[in-house]
Amino acid sequence: MRLKLLLIISFYFYLGQLLAKPKPRIAITGLSIESSTFSPARTDEAAFHAKYGTEIFSIYPFLSADSSLRQRAEWIPILIGNALPGGSVTPEAYESLVNKTLDALRKNMPYDGIFFDIHGAMSVAGLEDPEGDFIIRIRKLVGKKTIISTSMDLHGNVSWRLAENTDLITCYRMAPHEDAMETRKRAVENLVYRIESGKGKPAYKAWIPVPILLPGEKTSTRIEPGKSLYQAVAPAAAQPGIVDAAIWIGYAWADEPRNHAVVMVTGDDKEKVIQTSEKLARLFWESRFQFGFVAPTESFDECLDSALRSPKRPFFISDMGDNPTAGGAGDVTWTLKEILARPEFKNSGGPSLIYASIPGPGLVNKAVAAGKGVFVSGYVGAQVDSRYAPPLLITGYVKSIKFGDRDAETEVVVQVGSVFVIVTQKRKPYHREIDFTDLGLNPRKADIVIVKIGYLQPELYAMQAGWLMALTPGGVDQNLERLPYKKINRPMFPFDKNMADPDLSARLVPSSNLSR
Ligand SMILES: [Zn+2]
Repeated sequence: MRLKLLLIISFYFYLGQLLAKPKPRIAITGLSIESSTFSPARTDEAAFHAKYGTEIFSIYPFLSADSSLRQRAEWIPILIGNALPGGSVTPEAYESLVNKTLDALRKNMPYDGIFFDIHGAMSVAGLEDPEGDFIIRIRKLVGKKTIISTSMDLHGNVSWRLAENTDLITCYRMAPHEDAMETRKRAVENLVYRIESGKGKPAYKAWIPVPILLPGEKTSTRIEPGKSLYQAVAPAAAQPGIVDAAIWIGYAWADEPRNHAVVMVTGDDKEKVIQTSEKLARLFWESRFQFGFVAPTESFDECLDSALRSPKRPFFISDMGDNPTAGGAGDVTWTLKEILARPEFKNSGGPSLIYASIPGPGLVNKAVAAGKGVFVSGYVGAQVDSRYAPPLLITGYVKSIKFGDRDAETEVVVQVGSVFVIVTQKRKPYHREIDFTDLGLNPRKADIVIVKIGYLQPELYAMQAGWLMALTPGGVDQNLERLPYKKINRPMFPFDKNMADPDLSARLVPSSNLSR
């Protein structure tokens, strides 16, 4: 009797399985870095902290085990690599990561969809448009039926061949990128929806190159004209007949023909897709003269003088030229040398100044061996980028030591006069309050805080009472007109003054079904 019941239950179970629509099979993969071709730094494979297989789910809260999106597909996480911005990726690192991706993809074919999660501003020594190369190699392997949904940073670049080989494409709508995860979720939701509904690839993709190349520090969406420009994107994407709309600022510190702004709109309504993309491109072009730095910008000396004079505390200064989150080496010593040379900070009773940060593995090791409260001396910085100043001798007391940071590995604070210098084993960006408080520093109580950064990230922006951006030297010099571009398209705003209005009509990109 019991056996019969069991047989009946199993029969209906398998019948149910047979009749249920199979879940779409979707792979997750991609590499993210923005790398400056104007920096002498090089990026190796380890810098990508590659994640493989199911550990990839931890990156995406919207794909957590109990999320509805997770249930709607059979996910095949392949490889996700995410590096701090830096110098060009070595060809060996790029080939190794791409081949690992292709090998893992090959083992699990076929796919209904691929979530391609990239930044879009990777430079590889000797290879132009690596993201275009990467997607072509994926497309060749998985075939033309698979729908690829690409999610990008708005500082990435969209070449024609990337546009051709992807089916859905989007990017952030906020700088700073407070919508980074929301953007990825949108890319995934659109992908799942297009597969589930049977609508498949959007019928039209419009691509418009806008001949503008600007640094991120001039295009924050917190202020005009970036604010209005990017506020136009969500309503544009919400129209019937449109799947998504996106505007890329592009990446200013690499020298390739693809480095410029781009507008893309995808959808099923041809006229709407064309009109919407042209409207966004025109809006961008017409606002070009209004882009300026997000905070007053001066020479470093002038910034320091203003900060010392000002009653506003804490007073922040962005040390922009070597900003590691834009692709600077992060170890230029020029700014710190200037600070330590100033008489105001020579003794511990002077105005307190936090400097974040400078790599100096030799001094870190000495500080760890000596311990807190002990006097140490050693050279820091200029191992990668010594073009502006040589390694700098630092002599002071070890205030704190911290182990285990993902990027910095070990961090120490050395007090020199009234300056608290954060010295790291490896370079690390300081974006959050906890990055400081974990080291026993209180940036809210400091007189001056100087960070290798461009625009201030939200937590720092919220605590600053005064803020100036310093035009310091480095691999991501904010004065683009000083950079030796050779390969970008010309004419290009703002380099070619008085250039004629460009052709901003939509180019319809062929479907990936037709890609070569
Ligand atoms: Zn960005």
